[in-house]
Amino acid sequence: MGDTPEYHADYPTRPIGGGNPYHCCSMCGRSDPSINGRIEGHAVDCLYRRAKEAVASGDAELIALLREEVWDLVLVKRGATEVLNLLPSEGAS
Ligand SMILES: [Zn+2]
Repeated sequence: MGDTPEYHADYPTRPIGGGNPYHCCSMCGRSDPSINGRIEGHAVDCLYRRAKEAVASGDAELIALLREEVWDLVLVKRGATEVLNLLPSEGAS
């Protein structure tokens, strides 16, 4: 086929705990094995997924809106800073 799927592992994680040996996405709670490096493995409303999709779309307005949304969460949601770092800041090409 020739199209090699990209493997995305730069999402923030936390241990699932409770005897589960795996980590999960801090944003949507899906486990590493179920995500398996796929953007689609995250929940549709996962901030990490939305950030990656916004960056891939190249839509500056969408990215700016998402930055605002994530910025509001940085102090209260663990992993939000990592997601914020994925989004190019305003003025970046
Ligand atoms: Zn996620």
